[in-house]
Amino acid sequence: MKKVLFIDRDGTLVIEPPVDYQLDSLEKVEFYPKVFQYLSKIAKELDFELVMVTNQDGLGTDSFPEDTFWPAQNKVIQAFENEEVVFSEVVIDKTFPHENAPTRKPRTGLLTKYMNLKEYDLKNSFVIGDRLTDIELAKNLGSKGIYISNVDGLADGELSVKKI
Ligand SMILES: [Mg+2]
Repeated sequence: MKKVLFIDRDGTLVIEPPVDYQLDSLEKVEFYPKVFQYLSKIAKELDFELVMVTNQDGLGTDSFPEDTFWPAQNKVIQAFENEEVVFSEVVIDKTFPHENAPTRKPRTGLLTKYMNLKEYDLKNSFVIGDRLTDIELAKNLGSKGIYISNVDGLADGELSVKKI
């Protein structure tokens, strides 16, 4: 059976842009320190399928046009591929929070494939993210959650990792 690491993007792999939380230009792409080192180790040494799961509020609307999103997204994906970190799927919800869409994290509408196919071992899979919704997603999938947060008292960019 396949185990999956569902990985959030903003605030987990790349720094969530302050102010507007929108990664909509190449200049805003900034990776967390050591993220390539750790993730390529995970990809190489552990037996997990890597799936990126990200909420991109209003993607495709005037507030976040797709053509401002994809150059940055493609850059992120390419940078990881260069380090042999390859995501088998990138799952993007484009709704706004107030829509309460069944597809938006922590809900599982875009992840039913993993829940329905017997080849996936969700019990031994993980969700990694920087928000409580990521941990709720783990619960909703029947997986385990790894909560990453920038905590006061740590230097900028330094992470604390807590397993929940
Ligand atoms: Mg996040």
